[in-house]
Amino acid sequence: MEQPEWYSNAQKYWTAVSPTVNGMLGGFATVDPIDTRGSLKFLQDVPVANGYACDCGAGIGRVTKNMLLKRFDKVDLVEQAPNFCDQARRDLQAEQESGKVGDIFCTGLQDFTPAAGKYDLIWCQWVLGHLTDDDLVAFFKRCITGLKPGGVIGIKENNSSKDYVVDEEDSSVTRPDDALKRIFAKAGLTLIKEDIQQGLPAGLFTVRMYILQPQV
Ligand code: SAH
Repeated sequence: MEQPEWYSNAQKYWTAVSPTVNGMLGGFATVDPIDTRGSLKFLQDVPVANGYACDCGAGIGRVTKNMLLKRFDKVDLVEQAPNFCDQARRDLQAEQESGKVGDIFCTGLQDFTPAAGKYDLIWCQWVLGHLTDDDLVAFFKRCITGLKPGGVIGIKENNSSKDYVVDEEDSSVTRPDDALKRIFAKAGLTLIKEDIQQGLPAGLFTVRMYILQPQV
């Protein structure tokens, strides 16, 4: 997973995917409302302010629109595929005009540095498998500097059952829960809440949500 084409392959893959909810979910558009409800419920008792969130690997802004804007006053997006960024700008035009959506940064997370102290929540969903382990640790460290006091990082990702599962087609890995937790610790993050998404169609990976805060 360290070859130089790792990121350009992923970019090539995603650029050919349709900029729709179905495209974002690999053909499982029916998962969208289940996912949204599960995330909102998971976040309900998380003690974080309702101010500013950042949606990482945002795609066309599905999570921003359906989930984050229901809980947070304002959301920025980070997404590497220019066609998805364009679609997000169209779909979220009204929200951008009213100031509920801030910046849409069109860049890879491996190159993204949030402004210091900006966010209450940095949310990463179905994207972290595209980063190498080293880049993921470095990204989390930059996220820590991007949090407001009391801010947290939220993650929602597939879990493999044991080993890394490599997908050469889209340049991603699926990590097991324990490997993700080792990466969190290496980045200086403490796990304060976790849960498994219920109600998904059979045959998919387990999907886990995590809330992390900087170690004190
Ligand atoms: N989180 C969104 C999109 C999931 S699809 C949702 O749940 O609806 C995965 C997204 O990750 C795609 O939009 C893809 O372009 C983006 N992505 C892939 N590699 C990335 C990287 N290195 N940095 C940022 N985004 C990336």
